[in-house]
Amino acid sequence: MTALELDDVHREHGQGAGLVHALRGLSLTVLPGEFVAVMGPSGSGKSTLLNAAGGLITPTRGRVVVAGTDLAGLGVAGRAALRRRAVGYVFQELNLIPSLTAAENVMLPRELDGVRTRKARAEALAALAETGMADAAGRFPEDLSGGQRQRVAIARALVGERRLILADEPAGALDSQGGEEIMRVLRTRCDAGAACLMVTHESRHAAWADRVVFLRDGLAVDSTEPARGPEILLEHR
Ligand code: ADP
Ligand code: MG
Repeated sequence: MTALELDDVHREHGQGAGLVHALRGLSLTVLPGEFVAVMGPSGSGKSTLLNAAGGLITPTRGRVVVAGTDLAGLGVAGRAALRRRAVGYVFQELNLIPSLTAAENVMLPRELDGVRTRKARAEALAALAETGMADAAGRFPEDLSGGQRQRVAIARALVGERRLILADEPAGALDSQGGEEIMRVLRTRCDAGAACLMVTHESRHAAWADRVVFLRDGLAVDSTEPARGPEILLEHR
């Protein structure tokens, strides 16, 4: 079974003169254990792709299938439940809840899903340790640096047994060493069987992936293995 399947996905934003075709018939498959990087210029549809894959927006045409479930067959509550259970999402704007500590932020999706507080806390601490944030469990987002907040957001996406991880520039606020650490965490998760779809501007980070998909104007223009050199393809755009 595929972890994620997008089949001829279209999505428009706005209307009238402001209508933008953010995705124009995108097809993409991610298998369990696969780490796929998405690259492309600003406005090419990368975040829209992740939002569609996570069921946060509905395609105007085409199909999104997550772990064998067609999202079109689920209502709002069903999509939210699938997302909590199976999908880890690292948002570009992080979306941590300011009134909750780091550990409480990471626990939240598990508690919403009915996991007992004690178990949820233990899982949250393990996820925070994985992203190097064990010592910050009791701190609030406003007391953390941008890079630390990013690590907490990544821990929240990893907690529990998420089979699909969607990450929009997950290392954007980290220095190069921090970025490599996070790539290693994501790579390890994929090697353990999770699927990961990650937007990145850094070919250094894309090099950790099994495959790089290049978006342009809402379409995948090329797909390659990083060993063949994303930089070379970028030069040819
Ligand atoms: P990327 O993440 O590659 O920078 P996005 O998926 O965010 O690209 O955006 C693709 C296109 O859709 C852009 O032209 C952007 O301006 C437009 N867009 C994205 N979200 C919205 C929105 N909520 N309303 C209107 N236009 C949007
Ligand atoms: Mg974006």
